Amino acid sequence: MESNQKIPGEKVAQIEEYLPGENTFEDNESIRATTIGEINLDSSERLASVNSQTHITVPKVGDIIIGVVEANLPSMIAIMIKYVNGKKVVADLECICVTRHIRKKNIALAKDVVKVEIISHINGTIHASIDSQELGVLFTKCRKCFGTVVKMRDAVKCKDCGWIDDRKLSLDFGKSEFLTQN
Ligand SMILES: [Zn+2]
Repeated sequence: MESNQKIPGEKVAQIEEYLPGENTFEDNESIRATTIGEINLDSSERLASVNSQTHITVPKVGDIIIGVVEANLPSMIAIMIKYVNGKKVVADLECICVTRHIRKKNIALAKDVVKVEIISHINGTIHASIDSQELGVLFTKCRKCFGTVVKMRDAVKCKDCGWIDDRKLSLDFGKSEFLTQN
Protein backbone atom coordinates (compact mmCIF):
# COMPACT_ATOMS: atom_id res chain seq x y z
CA MET A 1 0.00 0.00 0.00
CA GLU A 2 1.33 3.46 -0.88
CA SER A 3 2.14 5.93 1.89
CA ASN A 4 -0.75 8.26 0.94
CA GLN A 5 -3.16 5.32 1.28
CA LYS A 6 -4.69 5.10 4.73
CA ILE A 7 -6.44 2.30 6.53
CA PRO A 8 -9.13 2.78 9.22
CA GLY A 9 -7.61 4.13 12.45
CA GLU A 10 -4.43 5.32 10.79
CA LYS A 11 -3.30 8.89 11.45
CA VAL A 12 -4.05 11.35 8.65
CA ALA A 13 -2.95 14.68 10.19
CA GLN A 14 -2.44 16.66 13.40
CA ILE A 15 -5.46 18.45 14.84
CA GLU A 16 -3.54 21.77 15.19
CA GLU A 17 -2.77 21.77 11.47
CA TYR A 18 -6.05 20.52 9.98
CA LEU A 19 -9.75 20.09 10.65
CA PRO A 20 -11.25 16.61 10.33
CA GLY A 21 -12.91 16.21 6.91
CA GLU A 22 -14.72 13.40 5.19
CA ASN A 23 -14.06 9.83 6.34
CA THR A 24 -12.01 10.95 9.35
CA PHE A 25 -12.47 11.33 13.08
CA GLU A 26 -10.75 13.26 15.88
CA ASP A 27 -8.70 11.31 18.35
CA ASN A 28 -6.99 13.58 20.91
CA GLU A 29 -4.29 15.37 18.91
CA SER A 30 -4.78 13.37 15.73
CA ILE A 31 -7.15 13.06 12.81
CA ARG A 32 -7.57 9.44 11.84
CA ALA A 33 -9.13 7.62 8.88
CA THR A 34 -12.46 5.80 9.20
CA THR A 35 -12.09 4.05 5.86
CA ILE A 36 -9.53 2.76 3.39
CA GLY A 37 -8.62 5.48 0.96
CA GLU A 38 -6.29 8.12 -0.29
CA ILE A 39 -5.38 11.02 1.97
CA ASN A 40 -6.45 14.49 0.80
CA LEU A 41 -4.96 17.49 2.62
CA ASP A 42 -6.63 20.73 1.56
CA SER A 43 -4.37 23.49 2.85
CA SER A 44 -6.64 26.40 1.84
CA GLU A 45 -9.62 24.99 3.77
CA ARG A 46 -7.28 23.38 6.32
CA LEU A 47 -9.25 20.20 5.86
CA ALA A 48 -7.86 16.68 6.13
CA SER A 49 -10.03 14.04 4.51
CA VAL A 50 -9.79 10.57 3.07
CA ASN A 51 -11.17 9.79 -0.38
CA SER A 52 -12.87 6.50 0.17
CA GLN A 53 -12.34 3.90 -2.50
CA THR A 54 -14.83 1.48 -1.10
CA HIS A 55 -17.77 3.39 -2.59
CA ILE A 56 -16.78 2.55 -6.15
CA THR A 57 -17.22 -1.17 -5.61
CA VAL A 58 -19.80 -1.74 -8.34
CA PRO A 59 -18.66 -0.48 -11.73
CA LYS A 60 -21.19 1.07 -14.08
CA VAL A 61 -22.04 0.14 -17.66
CA GLY A 62 -19.35 1.62 -19.91
CA ASP A 63 -16.63 1.52 -17.26
CA ILE A 64 -13.28 0.13 -18.38
CA ILE A 65 -11.93 -2.64 -16.19
CA ILE A 66 -8.45 -4.00 -15.84
CA GLY A 67 -8.43 -7.31 -14.07
CA VAL A 68 -6.87 -10.71 -13.69
CA VAL A 69 -8.45 -13.78 -15.24
CA GLU A 70 -9.56 -16.14 -12.46
CA ALA A 71 -11.02 -18.90 -14.58
CA ASN A 72 -10.94 -19.73 -18.25
CA LEU A 73 -14.06 -21.70 -19.17
CA PRO A 74 -15.14 -22.94 -22.61
CA SER A 75 -17.66 -20.14 -23.22
CA MET A 76 -16.65 -17.43 -20.76
CA ILE A 77 -13.90 -16.04 -18.60
CA ALA A 78 -14.21 -14.88 -15.00
CA ILE A 79 -12.19 -11.79 -14.13
CA MET A 80 -11.17 -10.38 -10.75
CA ILE A 81 -11.54 -6.61 -11.06
CA LYS A 82 -8.36 -4.67 -10.13
CA TYR A 83 -8.89 -1.25 -11.71
CA VAL A 84 -12.05 0.65 -12.70
CA ASN A 85 -11.33 3.48 -15.16
CA GLY A 86 -7.71 3.44 -13.98
CA LYS A 87 -8.59 3.61 -10.25
CA LYS A 88 -7.48 0.74 -8.08
CA VAL A 89 -10.29 -1.27 -6.51
CA VAL A 90 -9.83 -2.50 -2.95
CA ALA A 91 -12.80 -4.85 -2.65
CA ASP A 92 -12.89 -8.29 -4.24
CA LEU A 93 -15.26 -8.07 -7.18
CA GLU A 94 -15.64 -10.33 -10.15
CA CYS A 95 -17.11 -9.90 -13.59
CA ILE A 96 -17.73 -12.42 -16.32
CA CYS A 97 -17.16 -12.08 -19.99
CA VAL A 98 -18.90 -14.29 -22.56
CA THR A 99 -16.43 -15.41 -25.20
CA ARG A 100 -18.21 -18.16 -27.11
CA HIS A 101 -18.70 -15.97 -30.21
CA ILE A 102 -14.97 -15.20 -30.52
CA ARG A 103 -13.21 -17.61 -32.86
CA LYS A 104 -10.06 -18.21 -30.88
CA LYS A 105 -8.86 -21.25 -28.99
CA ASN A 106 -7.47 -19.31 -26.04
CA ILE A 107 -9.16 -15.95 -25.47
CA ALA A 108 -7.18 -15.46 -22.27
CA LEU A 109 -5.56 -17.83 -19.81
CA ALA A 110 -5.96 -17.88 -16.04
CA LYS A 111 -3.70 -15.19 -14.47
CA ASP A 112 -3.64 -13.12 -17.67
CA VAL A 113 -4.23 -9.39 -17.22
CA VAL A 114 -7.13 -8.25 -19.39
CA LYS A 115 -8.95 -5.05 -20.27
CA VAL A 116 -12.73 -5.32 -20.60
CA GLU A 117 -15.76 -3.01 -20.68
CA ILE A 118 -18.80 -3.37 -18.43
CA ILE A 119 -21.93 -4.02 -20.54
CA SER A 120 -24.64 -5.03 -18.05
CA HIS A 121 -25.62 -6.12 -14.56
CA ILE A 122 -27.86 -9.18 -14.63
CA ASN A 123 -29.08 -10.86 -11.43
CA GLY A 124 -26.20 -9.47 -9.44
CA THR A 125 -23.59 -10.61 -11.92
CA ILE A 126 -21.45 -8.02 -13.66
CA HIS A 127 -21.07 -8.75 -17.35
CA ALA A 128 -18.25 -7.38 -19.45
CA SER A 129 -17.23 -7.41 -23.10
CA ILE A 130 -13.76 -8.11 -24.48
CA ASP A 131 -14.79 -7.63 -28.13
CA SER A 132 -13.56 -4.24 -29.33
CA GLN A 133 -9.98 -3.66 -30.45
CA GLU A 134 -8.66 -1.85 -27.41
CA LEU A 135 -10.06 -4.59 -25.18
CA GLY A 136 -8.39 -7.93 -24.59
CA VAL A 137 -5.25 -9.38 -23.07
CA LEU A 138 -2.70 -6.85 -21.79
CA PHE A 139 -0.28 -9.31 -20.24
CA THR A 140 0.15 -13.05 -20.65
CA LYS A 141 2.79 -15.73 -20.42
CA CYS A 142 3.67 -18.83 -22.41
CA ARG A 143 1.22 -21.68 -21.79
CA LYS A 144 3.99 -24.28 -22.05
CA CYS A 145 6.90 -22.85 -20.08
CA PHE A 146 5.52 -19.60 -18.51
CA GLY A 147 8.16 -17.68 -20.45
CA THR A 148 7.85 -14.12 -21.75
CA VAL A 149 5.85 -13.78 -24.96
CA VAL A 150 5.91 -11.22 -27.75
CA LYS A 151 3.11 -10.24 -30.10
CA MET A 152 2.98 -11.81 -33.57
CA ARG A 153 0.07 -10.39 -35.57
CA ASP A 154 -2.92 -11.51 -33.45
CA ALA A 155 -1.02 -14.25 -31.63
CA VAL A 156 1.82 -14.45 -29.15
CA LYS A 157 5.17 -16.24 -29.44
CA CYS A 158 7.29 -17.40 -26.53
CA LYS A 159 10.78 -15.92 -26.41
CA ASP A 160 12.07 -18.97 -24.55
CA CYS A 161 10.53 -22.05 -26.17
CA GLY A 162 9.11 -20.61 -29.40
CA TRP A 163 5.53 -21.81 -28.74
CA ILE A 164 2.96 -19.81 -30.70
CA ASP A 165 -0.48 -19.41 -29.18
CA ASP A 166 -3.55 -17.34 -29.90
CA ARG A 167 -5.12 -14.79 -27.56
CA LYS A 168 -7.70 -12.04 -27.89
CA LEU A 169 -5.08 -9.31 -27.62
CA SER A 170 -5.76 -5.69 -26.73
CA LEU A 171 -4.26 -2.96 -28.91
CA ASP A 172 -2.50 -1.95 -25.69
CA PHE A 173 -0.81 -5.35 -25.32
CA GLY A 174 2.79 -4.95 -24.20
CA LYS A 175 2.38 -1.27 -23.33
CA SER A 176 1.44 -1.73 -19.69
CA GLU A 177 4.76 -2.44 -18.01
CA PHE A 178 3.42 -1.70 -14.53
CA LEU A 179 1.09 -4.67 -14.71
CA THR A 180 3.91 -7.17 -14.86
CA GLN A 181 4.89 -6.20 -11.31
CA ASN A 182 1.59 -7.37 -9.82
ZN1 LIG B 1 7.47 -21.01 -23.72
